Amino acid sequence: MDISDQHDPTAQAVRDLIDLDGGPLVPDALGRTLRNAAFLQTLANLHYLDERLNKVSVRNGSGGVSVHITRSPTMGASVRQVSAEHAAVLVPVGTLARLHVTHRLLVGYWNQERQVPEMLGSLYDRPFERRLPLALVPLLRDLQGDGDWWEALDALDASIELNDSFATAVSELNHLSLSLLLSHEFAHVGRRHADLRRRVRSGELSFKAGDGQSRPATDAELARAMEDDADRIGAYIAVWTLLRQTESHPDRRPTGFVRLGYALTALLALFDPEKLSVMHFGAESAYPHPTIRQALLLDHIAACATGLGIPAGQVDSWLNHGARKALAALDQLEYEVYAERRFCKDGEQVDPVIHALRTSRLNMLRVARNASDEEAISLQLNELITATYGDFILT
Ligand SMILES: [Zn+2]
Repeated sequence: MDISDQHDPTAQAVRDLIDLDGGPLVPDALGRTLRNAAFLQTLANLHYLDERLNKVSVRNGSGGVSVHITRSPTMGASVRQVSAEHAAVLVPVGTLARLHVTHRLLVGYWNQERQVPEMLGSLYDRPFERRLPLALVPLLRDLQGDGDWWEALDALDASIELNDSFATAVSELNHLSLSLLLSHEFAHVGRRHADLRRRVRSGELSFKAGDGQSRPATDAELARAMEDDADRIGAYIAVWTLLRQTESHPDRRPTGFVRLGYALTALLALFDPEKLSVMHFGAESAYPHPTIRQALLLDHIAACATGLGIPAGQVDSWLNHGARKALAALDQLEYEVYAERRFCKDGEQVDPVIHALRTSRLNMLRVARNASDEEAISLQLNELITATYGDFILT
């Protein structure tokens, strides 16, 4: 859609939304981190994903969808229904920059096979205030003031040395994480989540939870079920996009799925990295803990790929290889911060625990139980959505 159209109320609504999120992106607002060919590739990818989502959207009768980059330095995309026929997905430029820097930082460990001791930390630790190395703050926390944030992120990006041979991998990881992110946001629209929430709240539809689905679900349970539903449908769209893009080169699929496992793990490591503990995600939380989401997403992607004709064993091994490599890179990063004081200034006091995607054999069963509880309620939601709005169709 043409959002500059002064006479179209939908265009006006989209412009207002963009203004609320820091305004439209202008070249001057771009830090050095994104002034490169990789960013032009990202813009082309965004355009491609926008087209794909529109096809899926039209096929499912959910109207048009458009993707817009805003000047906000924050992490995470959002979606808003701006009229009965149109939804706008907003992507803060900060998210694009953070993903790019994260991928550059992590793939640098790809060929380092050394075993590092895992930092002591469990997702069942009590919540505590962690002191991140200041140099990593622009990547892992939302700072006030765009100017400061770009300056700090540019400095971090410039400090990362990465062999040119990784350029394609970084560009592909940027693309895959955007694909996951945008597909997730679109899924909220395609699955009519806002309408469903309204109808459940007004009592027109009933959504139950608890043992034997015996009581009305809480708002938080409905929100978490919708997030998982968006992750599942989003994964479906992302896998379908990956298969479409490799249609004439099936030999590229193994690498594609390895990178997808890597990208989703790196992406979740960036969300709420300050909330290490499961105790940050209680009954009132609208999201499950990132470790739970990562486990469920890997399952969803494998299930979608199998449904679309890739043998199950293969997809699992590709995805898990990618996820393990990303986790190993995060462990290496923590080890370097701890043992070599990478990213630390002289005398700076830091805690080396910087991501929440950790688990051990000891609490694997608890994680699995938590994940299966979340999945059970989202499958309930899936039934309600299908009964109310019909099946979701990939074109
Ligand atoms: Zn969501």
